[in-house]
Amino acid sequence: RLLRRNEAMLETERKQKILQETVLTGLNEGIVLADSEGRILLETPTASKLLFGGGLHDERSRRKDTDMLSQYFYLRGVNARYVWQLMETALKDNEDSVHTLEFAGDEALRFVEVYVSPLRSEGSRGVLAVLRDVTHLKQLEQMRRDFVANVTHELKTPLTSISGYIDLLRARRRSPEEAEQFYTILDIEADRLENLISDLLELSEIEEGDRQRLRNEEVRLYSIGDEVLSELEPAAAEREVSLHLEVDPDFVFMANRHRIKQLIVNLMSNAVKYNKPGGKVVLSAERERGRIRISVRDTGIGIADEHIPRLFERFYRVSKSRSRELGGTGLGLAIVKHIAGLYGGSVQVVSEEGKGSVFTVILPDRKENGSKGA
Ligand code: ADP
Repeated sequence: RLLRRNEAMLETERKQKILQETVLTGLNEGIVLADSEGRILLETPTASKLLFGGGLHDERSRRKDTDMLSQYFYLRGVNARYVWQLMETALKDNEDSVHTLEFAGDEALRFVEVYVSPLRSEGSRGVLAVLRDVTHLKQLEQMRRDFVANVTHELKTPLTSISGYIDLLRARRRSPEEAEQFYTILDIEADRLENLISDLLELSEIEEGDRQRLRNEEVRLYSIGDEVLSELEPAAAEREVSLHLEVDPDFVFMANRHRIKQLIVNLMSNAVKYNKPGGKVVLSAERERGRIRISVRDTGIGIADEHIPRLFERFYRVSKSRSRELGGTGLGLAIVKHIAGLYGGSVQVVSEEGKGSVFTVILPDRKENGSKGA
């Protein structure tokens, strides 16, 4: 019986150990526990990964399996040394603290938040460090800062031009023709500001709570295409571009009509803007295995491969001057991508420089869901 009880106890212990290891390994945070001499008592795989990030350790310092001395060495490694300094301070001051360190990683710099806390149990002293990789958060912060800087710049450009032309008009009497020319420029710049602001508002509307407010309805693509075609007709005619609709009049799916129209306006107006005289723009759609594909095809200037990965970034333009000249805000494709994202969809681009581009929006087909009457 004793033997059986012993076995049961061992089994429980084993299970507990597995559980503990699973939890520690699964944690996003890395945990290092050391005694007051800096000997490592516990170190989770995530912690090892972060501590070894620098890649500057020699093999000797990597061996932490045998004696205490090698562990000690290990702790004196590059990234680890910074962490140990913090741990030592926590021990000395007997105080918790949080720090953000910059670790040299295998590829790039990583930002690691380190929480250190002294521990005391049954007379022995130790210290705990919890490491959290916050690189992604830092990147998001950076992106937000870049965005604000970009917006400021984009707003300033037309404003500078507007105030410049007002000064010119004020400086001396102008002939009616000259004045008219200035008014036209003022008009264009004011429109540019308006477009920019409305695109920014759209974008933030889509990003913020639109998910909750997004009301799906039956969308008939043909009727949207028809509307967009007549809206774009004047601009297309001016550029000698013809617009075509290759959509089955019965092609319907569940989505928000306003958003889908916006997506199609943005893609089709780009297809007109970046086209050549005598060019074509075609809107088409098809269903395939639970998805719908909406494509806008043009025979325009096309896009070089190197630009494709960044095309959907806010304010990214292949040619800044061409986009500005055509009244572009640099936000059209970012809006398209966000709208597709609202439905769990995506956008693909196939393009050949000088020949034309195809932008395809792929959305999950919600026709059945919707018709079940949710
Ligand atoms: P913009 O307001 O500048 O048009 P978008 O976000 O709509 O901004 O597009 C970003 C850039 O992608 C454009 O400046 C242009 O260089 C390129 N682009 C978009 N659509 C096309 C297209 N159909 N053909 C060629 N280039 C395109």
